[in-house]
Amino acid sequence: MQKLEDGIHHFQANYFASNRELFEQLAVAGQHPETLFITCCDSRVVPTLITNAAPGELFIVRNVGNIVPSVARGVLGGVSAAIEYAVEVLGVGNIIVCGHTHCGAIDAILHPDRVAHLPFVSRWLAESHAIPEIIAQRYGHLEGDALVVAAIQENVLVQLENLRTFDVVTRRLEDGRLKMNGWVYRIESGEVFDFDPLSGQFLKLVPHEGEGDRPALSRRISDVTELLRK
Ligand code: ZN
Repeated sequence: MQKLEDGIHHFQANYFASNRELFEQLAVAGQHPETLFITCCDSRVVPTLITNAAPGELFIVRNVGNIVPSVARGVLGGVSAAIEYAVEVLGVGNIIVCGHTHCGAIDAILHPDRVAHLPFVSRWLAESHAIPEIIAQRYGHLEGDALVVAAIQENVLVQLENLRTFDVVTRRLEDGRLKMNGWVYRIESGEVFDFDPLSGQFLKLVPHEGEGDRPALSRRISDVTELLRK
């Protein structure tokens, strides 16, 4: 706990002091985030760090397994409320679902017996009940880490599908006001892989030539989209 308190003092003396105007502006003008970022609770995944995003840029939803409950299943919860608010009220232009390697939730989805003694975790992860079936059907030839990575990727894709069960999301996807991306963050290398619908593969996001140190997240996303169109 002392470490966290020391961290607050460090933040105030350094980052905040250097960016005081940004914080004052955010307080006055309110938030206008470009992106709804849905990811896992895992402490090793730090959205603002891996995207180099500033305060006010990411509207972040975190839960065990970066799951988006399908509207069709009738689950009412904080995730659905955050999605509705981010899209309808804040008008975000991007939604990213970001899974990650070594995800304990995916391990539990593949082996539900390991969390059978955890009623809340079990019920929550049941939202991704399709994953074991998809894995059995399409990835029977894989084993070990490769199988788990496939499950991590498929879990991201299922959540993108579930996002389309929200009317507000489909409306804005259709009229071009919203884009969605599925990412997988690789903890051990810091790399991020973006789903490419054309090839059906997760492709590594690589630096764009001529970019400065801190490209805007939305620009990077549109770059990827443009790349896919070529
Ligand atoms: Zn996780």
